[in-house]
Amino acid sequence: MDRDFSPAAAGPSLDAISDSLKNQSLEDDNRNEDSNSQNRVNLKLEELKWDHSFVRELPGDPITDLTPREVLHACYTTVFPSAEVDNPQLVAWSESVAELLDLDPREFERPDLAQIFSGASPLVGIMPYAQCYGGHQFGMWAGQLGDGRAITLGEILNSKSERWELQLKGAGRTPYSRFADGLAVLRSSIREFLCSEAMHNLGIPTTRALCLVTTGKYVTRDMFYDGNPKDEPGAIVCRVAQSFLRFGSYQIHATRDDFDLVHKLADYCIRHHFPHLENLSKSDTLSFTTGEGDDSVVDLTSNKYAAWAVEVAELTASLVAKWQAIGFTHGVLNTDNMSVLGLTIDYGPFGFLDAFDPSYTPNITDLPGRRYCFANQPDIGSWNIAQFATTLSSAQLINKKETDYIIERYGTKFMDEYQALVTKKLGLPKYNKQLISDLLKNMAVDKVDYTNFFRLLSNVKSDPAIPEESLLVPLKAVLLDIGKERRDAWTSWVKSYIQELAESDLSDEERKTSMNSVNPKYILRNYLCQSAIDAAELGDFEEVRRLLKVMERPYDDQPGMEKYARLPPAWAYRPGVSMLSCSS
Ligand code: AMP
Ligand code: MG
Repeated sequence: MDRDFSPAAAGPSLDAISDSLKNQSLEDDNRNEDSNSQNRVNLKLEELKWDHSFVRELPGDPITDLTPREVLHACYTTVFPSAEVDNPQLVAWSESVAELLDLDPREFERPDLAQIFSGASPLVGIMPYAQCYGGHQFGMWAGQLGDGRAITLGEILNSKSERWELQLKGAGRTPYSRFADGLAVLRSSIREFLCSEAMHNLGIPTTRALCLVTTGKYVTRDMFYDGNPKDEPGAIVCRVAQSFLRFGSYQIHATRDDFDLVHKLADYCIRHHFPHLENLSKSDTLSFTTGEGDDSVVDLTSNKYAAWAVEVAELTASLVAKWQAIGFTHGVLNTDNMSVLGLTIDYGPFGFLDAFDPSYTPNITDLPGRRYCFANQPDIGSWNIAQFATTLSSAQLINKKETDYIIERYGTKFMDEYQALVTKKLGLPKYNKQLISDLLKNMAVDKVDYTNFFRLLSNVKSDPAIPEESLLVPLKAVLLDIGKERRDAWTSWVKSYIQELAESDLSDEERKTSMNSVNPKYILRNYLCQSAIDAAELGDFEEVRRLLKVMERPYDDQPGMEKYARLPPAWAYRPGVSMLSCSS
C-alpha cells in the first residue's frame, strides 16, 4: 500500500485544528474567554482532536478475538475496554496533564467522567487497540508479552501540534493477557498515578497520568504470592505519553525474523518522534572515531537508524543518570519496560531510597539476585540498550561497528550526566570522585536518609574556621545514633567537603539555592503512598489528592507540609510498603 507520510497525512494540521476551534459555539467561546488570559485552549472531551497514526501507518492484527494467542505480523490488535464497572468514581486527576491535552478542567466535574475513563462509556473518536511487544524478563527472553491490560484509545493532537497517546491501564482482557485478568487494583493504580506526576515534577522524563478512577468492582490478588489471595478494589489509570513504544516492541518482530516489521516500526518512530533524523546532511558533528584505522569512523549522517539508536541510547543513559541522582529504583527493568523515548514507564514495585542502601530493590521477586537493585540500574540500562541495538542489527538496520558505538555512547553519556548531576547535588565547583565515593560509603554504613541528607547538606557553611565539634550540626537530623568512630568519619568527610567548596565562586546562599533546585525536599516515599492507599481503600481520596499537590513542587519549602518530608516511620520498612511484588 502506498502511504503518504507527509505531516498532513499524520492527522489534522494546526490550521484545521484552529479552524475547528473557531467554529465552536458561543457558549464555548465564553468558556474559553475565562482562561484566555492564560493562553489556554479549553476543550470538552468530545472536542479532542483524535489522530490514529499507529493504527493508520502500521499493520494490525486481522483477528479481533480476545483469546490469548500469538499475534504474528502485526503491531497491534483492535480491542475495546471491557472492565466491568459499578458506579465508578473519580479518585484524582492531574491539572497539568489536562492542560497538555487542551482539556477544560471543568470536564472533571462531569457526572459521566468516571464512566468515560473506566472505558464503560466510550469517548467519541477513539480507535482502541492493544500493542504487541515482547521482552527480556530478568535477563531471559520471555517471548510475546504485549498490552495485557492497557488499551490505547488513540493519539490526540493538541493546539501545539504535539501528539499524545492516551491509554487506559486495567481496562480488561486483550489477546496479550495470557493467563491474567486484564485488570488493575486501586493500590497499584494510585502508585502509578502519583509517581508519574511526582517524577514529572522532579524533572525526570516519564509517562504521565491524566486521571484515576475506581471501577466499583473487586479484583482478586495474591499480593505476596503466598497463597493468601484477597479481594481488592479495582481501578483504571489513564496514562499519557507521546508514545508507549518499548525496546520489546522491536524485539518481538526481530525474534520472529519479521525484519520488515522492525523496519516499518523504526521508520514510524523516527517519523513521528525523531523527525530531525529524517533528512540528515553530512556534518562533522555526527561523525565519530571509534578506534584505529580508516573504517573506525561511524558516520551517523549516512544511516538514520544508527543515529536514532544513538539517541535512544543517550536518552536512556540520561534517564538512568537522573534516577541515580534522585535515588529512584524502578524495580522491573525488563526490556518491555524500557521506553524508546527514554521515559520512565510501567510503574510497578518502584521505590525511592529512604535509608541509603545501594543493594535496595523494591521488588520482592528480585530479592534472590537483586538484578534490578538501585546500584545495578546503570549496568542494566546498558544491557538493555545492547539488546535493542542487537535487535536493529539483526534486522540489518545497523552494522556491527554502529552497534558497538551505540552501547559505548550509552556508557559515556551516563557518566557525563551522572557526574554533572552529583556535582550539582553537592554544590561542588567540579566533579570529585574520591569525595563522592567516600560520601556514598559513609551513607551506606550509617543508613543515612538519601533525600534529607542532600537537602540538609546545603546548610553547611564553607568556612574553614568552623570548630570541629560544630561541623556536623547541620546534618544532625540525618546522622542519628552514631558512635564516636562514625562521628569522626563524618567530621573528616565534612572537612574535605568544606575544603573543596573553598574553590567555588558561589556564596553559601547561592550554593544553597542551586543545591535545593536539584535536591528535593519532598519525594514520593513508599510509606506516603501507602497512607494514601489505606485511606482510599476505605473510600477517602483526600490523601491521594493532597500528596499529588505536595509532589507538584518537590523542590520548594512548603510551609505546613513538613510532615511529608519527615524520615519514614519504622513501619515503612515492612514488606508490602518498602518492598512489593509485581502483583497489581
Ligand atoms: P508488567 O510487570 O506490568 O510490566 O507486566 C508484564 C506483562 O504482563 C505485560 O505484558 C502486561 O500487560 C502483563 N500483565 C500484567 N498484569 C496483567 C493483568 N492483570 N492482566 C493481563 N496482563 C497483565
Ligand atoms: Mg510492563
